[in-house]
Amino acid sequence: MQYSFNLKKSRQTIKLALIAATLVILAGCFPSNDLGREEYLLQGRTMGTTYNIKVVGENIDTEKLQQGIDAKLVKLNQEMSTYIKDSELSIFNQSTSLEPVKVSEGLGRVINEAIRLGELSEGALDVTVGPLVNLWGFGPEYRPETVPSKELLAATKSRIGLDKLTFEHGMLSKNIPDLYVDLSTIAKGYGVDLVAEFVEANGINNYLVEIGGEMRIKGFKHTGELWHVAIEKPVNNERSVHQIIIPKDNAVATSGDYRIYFEADGQRFSHIIDPNTGKPINHKLVSVTVIHPSSMTADGLSTAMMVMGEDKAIAFAEAHDLAVYIIAKTEHGFVEQSTVKFMQYLK
Ligand code: ADP
Ligand code: MG
Repeated sequence: MQYSFNLKKSRQTIKLALIAATLVILAGCFPSNDLGREEYLLQGRTMGTTYNIKVVGENIDTEKLQQGIDAKLVKLNQEMSTYIKDSELSIFNQSTSLEPVKVSEGLGRVINEAIRLGELSEGALDVTVGPLVNLWGFGPEYRPETVPSKELLAATKSRIGLDKLTFEHGMLSKNIPDLYVDLSTIAKGYGVDLVAEFVEANGINNYLVEIGGEMRIKGFKHTGELWHVAIEKPVNNERSVHQIIIPKDNAVATSGDYRIYFEADGQRFSHIIDPNTGKPINHKLVSVTVIHPSSMTADGLSTAMMVMGEDKAIAFAEAHDLAVYIIAKTEHGFVEQSTVKFMQYLK
């Protein structure tokens, strides 16, 4: 049995592109086997998308486990969802005070990584890009589906930048009153890490955790085999495997500009914004897949490299010794490249 799910689920009325580079789990059914292990599937919803969690073991109390997982995810959303008006992050965004505020451990952890990855990627990943995301119609606000004017773009651009956000000793502050922080690019990955940690804390060391396409795996399937993940071909009207990978005890994240976008005047606009131009990215990169121990890091890095474009992305990945696989669209079809570190995971 092949079990598959979409990499990204739309949050709003988002046009779904026909092209899909979906990750497919080549895992199997759920009977117990000679090893005496069983594979349990837990499914639910969080962050405007679905989660799929597989745990392998003996006599796992899945109801109790899922309750614990759901509680963690509810707490996460209450900390950092921009779709929840009274979340901790929404309250910080709405406040015009420049005074530092103490933030929860969870929010602090994500902010910290967001800033670190922002600096590492020289601003390609910028969690203050929210006003631009909203301007182009991809945030929780009204969706205009039109191209904004130069003036509005410049005014909005002046409100973004990681230099306007400070996180020190658990205290968060902004230096302009209307800074808006949008963590949606790494929050799902963080959710995956949180669930994986919780599953492990419950003594389970063989699992697969997936939230909205972000994935982290450990150990073995109930059959004793390593987990296999497939990157699907990014082509129309066909679902076939592009590349099978064996990520071992790691997270896998894929960023792609083909899935969530809008069209105006025949041009397609991605939901990923280049903070340098203030505009949706516009290049030949179709998807970036990152394998890394942390799902949050993989998630952020995949988006950052998507912003960079293919040449910069590969150079960045090699320079930082990252396991990265990219697919670019050329006149001659799709061309893929992988870094040296990624090769060990190719089947
Ligand atoms: P993908 O999997 O394609 O990377 P994500 O959902 O992880 O997509 O991240 C894209 C989201 O992050 C956008 O919907 C937007 O809210 C936000 N975003 C867009 N551009 C950037 C950027 N340059 N830096 C940080 N966040 C961004
Ligand atoms: Mg991402």
